[in-house]
Amino acid sequence: MSELDDLYQEVILDHGRRPRNFHALPGADRVAEGLNPLCGDHYKVFLRLEGDRIAEVAFEGSGCAISKASASLMTGAVKGKTVGEAERIFTAVHALITEGPDRADPAELGKLAVLSGVSAFPTRVKCASLAWHALKNALHADAQVASTE
Ligand code: ZN
Repeated sequence: MSELDDLYQEVILDHGRRPRNFHALPGADRVAEGLNPLCGDHYKVFLRLEGDRIAEVAFEGSGCAISKASASLMTGAVKGKTVGEAERIFTAVHALITEGPDRADPAELGKLAVLSGVSAFPTRVKCASLAWHALKNALHADAQVASTE
């Protein structure tokens, strides 16, 4: 494994152990749920919008380290962004996780490049993308539960 892979793995382990923005958001005006029955990952994503901007974002629930780390990284990446910017980040992350690093726009990814290793593990793709699908549903005020199935 390369040094970069080691670094990426360390970041993911850290976010899995100490997830950021990991709490309910009482003032949320958007809530969406994400469920990955294959692994048992189950989260709620909360958003509070100010106009077109994501003023606050948080999540709660439980699941494996990858799903929790990805959700934690997601909250850090989209906080303060506009809905349009958050959608572009979603697109870049989705491409990164499902198709690999060559398919994602590095400018949109920034720190999220740490998720690049996930594409090599097909069984973990659903874990890593779960919170992002829930985010997308929340942005669109879609009340449906985002399921990876
Ligand atoms: Zn999982």
